Amino acid sequence: MSDGRALAREYLEQQRLLGGDPVVMPEAAPDGRTGGPPDREGATPSARPPVRPSDASLPPPGISCDPPSGDLFTADPVSQAGSLQALASLIATCTQCRLCEGRTHTVPGEGPDDARLVVVGEGPGRVEDETGRPFVGRAGELLDKILAAIELPRQRVFICNVVKCRPPENRQPQYDEIASCLPYLHRQLDLLKPKVILAMGGTAAQTLLDTKQSLASLRNQVHRFRGTPVIVTYHPAALLRNPNWKRPTWDDVRIARRLLD
Ligand code: SF4
Repeated sequence: MSDGRALAREYLEQQRLLGGDPVVMPEAAPDGRTGGPPDREGATPSARPPVRPSDASLPPPGISCDPPSGDLFTADPVSQAGSLQALASLIATCTQCRLCEGRTHTVPGEGPDDARLVVVGEGPGRVEDETGRPFVGRAGELLDKILAAIELPRQRVFICNVVKCRPPENRQPQYDEIASCLPYLHRQLDLLKPKVILAMGGTAAQTLLDTKQSLASLRNQVHRFRGTPVIVTYHPAALLRNPNWKRPTWDDVRIARRLLD
C-alpha cells in the first residue's frame, strides 16, 4: 500500500475510534493508483506527496497566562515540594477547602514524571473518589481512546484535575475551592514541565488561562501557560452526553499532537 493510502487509512481509523462514520476506500490499481482526478499539475492522488498532520498550519495564538511561580525562599510546603510524590502526600492530608469533608480519597493525578503531555480536567467524580485515580469509568475509557488515536498510551501522559477532591453530587467546583486547590496544579506543572497541556472542559481551560471566556471561544487557538502551549477541548464526560462534539475534539487533539511532534 502506498504511503498516502496508509496514512489515509490510519487517519480514517482514528476518526472511527472517535465516533466518525465508517468510510470505504476504493481498492488501489496494481500500479498503486486510486483513479482519483488529477490535480492542476496533472498528478493523480497516489502521485501527490502525502499531507501529514504536522504539515498543516497551527491555529493562531490565544491567551498567554503567566502567574508568578512560588517563591524559592518561602516556607510554603507546596512551593517547596520537590517531587510529584511529595505533592501527592501534601494533597492527601489537605483540608484547605470544604471539599475535604465528603471525600473518600484525594485524587492528585497520575502519570510519569517526564510526561510530555499533561491532561487537565475539572475534578474527580464518583469512581475517581472511590479509587483515588483520575479519569476512570466511562469518561476515562473515552479519554484512553482519544489518547490512543494520537498514539499516546495513557501510561505516557500525566492526567490530573483542577480540584483534587470530589465536589458533592458532581457539581462544578466553586471559585473559592478552585482558588484553594490551584497551587497544587501550578506546582505539578512546574515539576512536570510538559511540552503541551490539554485542557479538557471549561473549568480546566478557564482556570489555567485565568479567563471567563467560553470553551467554544477558547478552542482552536494555541494559548500559553507560563510559555507552555495549552490546547482547549471538550471534557470526555461532555462527549458522552453529546457525541456531536467528538469530531471537534478530534480536531483539537490533533493540534496537541502536532505540537508534540
Ligand atoms: S479540593 Fe484541593 S484544596 Fe480542597 S481539600 Fe481537596 S486538595 Fe485541599
